[in-house]
Amino acid sequence: MLKKTVKVDNRLRYRIELDHDLCQGHSVCIAEAPALFSLNESNASYDQIQLITSEIDEEQSEAAFRAQKYCPNGVIRVLPIEDS
Ligand code: SF4
Repeated sequence: MLKKTVKVDNRLRYRIELDHDLCQGHSVCIAEAPALFSLNESNASYDQIQLITSEIDEEQSEAAFRAQKYCPNGVIRVLPIEDS
């Protein structure tokens, strides 16, 4: 079946995925997109990063794509939301 990209108010929507198992807490993502990623205090060996929101609009996508590009571990994916 052909999938369609979802547009809200004629804008594209994206979903951010973060593989927590491979994240090593560099915080580059926070530097690139502070409105989308935050630090979660924990006793783990690496700082824990959490997504502030996993669904974003076109306006927020530029920062999200920068975080994806510069994440040293390549654990961030920014994907267009599609109709199923
Ligand atoms: S830059 Fe990548 S590896 Fe580093 S904290 Fe952010 S998501 Fe995790």
